[in-house]
Amino acid sequence: MRVLLLCLTFLWPALLHALPTALPAPGGVAILSLGPGGAQPRAGFNDERVAVVPTDGGWKAVVGLPLSLQPGDHRVEVTWADGRRSWHGFTVHDREYGESRITIDEERLVSPGPEDLKRIEAERARIRKALATWTDTVPDFNFAVPAEGRFSSGFGLRRFINDQPRNPHSGLDIAAPTGTPIHAPSPGRVILTGDFFFAGKAVFLDHGYGVISFYAHMNDIHVEEGQVVERGERIGDIGATGRVTGPHLHWTIYLNRTAVEPELFFER
Ligand SMILES: [Zn+2]
Repeated sequence: MRVLLLCLTFLWPALLHALPTALPAPGGVAILSLGPGGAQPRAGFNDERVAVVPTDGGWKAVVGLPLSLQPGDHRVEVTWADGRRSWHGFTVHDREYGESRITIDEERLVSPGPEDLKRIEAERARIRKALATWTDTVPDFNFAVPAEGRFSSGFGLRRFINDQPRNPHSGLDIAAPTGTPIHAPSPGRVILTGDFFFAGKAVFLDHGYGVISFYAHMNDIHVEEGQVVERGERIGDIGATGRVTGPHLHWTIYLNRTAVEPELFFER
C-alpha cells in the first residue's frame, strides 16, 4: 500500500497535465478541445505552431493570444495524423489594461544611437531565434512565482517613456533588492543567456511545446546555455542591468512566440 501511494504521488504531476487559466482576450490564453485521443495532431494559429497537450478529455490546444489581437471570432487550424484538417473557432473578448508612464534620464537608453541600433538589431535576431525553439516535451504549466518581491508593473500596460508611446509591457515586473534570488518556476532548459542593451543580463528557458520564459535585468546569471534546470533551481539574482529605473525582475512567458499574462500560469 505504501509503495502504491508513493507511486501515485510520483505520477500525480504527470497525470494531471494542469493547464494555464483560460482567458480568451488579447494577451491571454485560449484553451480549445480538439477531440478525443489517437495520434497527436498539429495545430496552428496565425501561422504559428501552438502547444497541443493530452488531457483526460482528449487533445487540447493551448493558444497564446497577442496583445494586438482584435476582439472577435478567431480559429485554430488542426492537422491530424491521417492528413485530415479541422478548424476550431473561439471568441476573443476585449480586455482593458492600464497605462504606465516612466521617466528615464539617460538619453542613450531612450533614443539609442547608430552603434547601439546595430547592437540592438543583432540581439533581436538572437532573441527571435531563441523564441522559435520547439521541443517535444510536455511543459509543466504550473509555474511558481520566480522571485520574492512586489509586483511593481503588470503585464499589458500601455507604456510611455518620457511621454513617448512604446510597446505595451510584455511581462510582469517583480521589484526586490539587488541580489534577491530568481528561481526557475517550472522545469526547463537554458536556451539563451547574454547581456543585452535593453534587457541587461538575461536568461531564456525553454519548457517545451513553444512555452518559453524570459528573465531580464539580472545582476548575476547562475546558469549556462544548454543547462537543464529543475523547478526551484536558482538561475540568477535580481539586478538593475539594461534599461531600468531600479532593481527588478522583468519576467515574460511566451506561448507560440506570443507574450501572455504570466499570472495565468500561477499554481492553482
Ligand atoms: Zn518589465
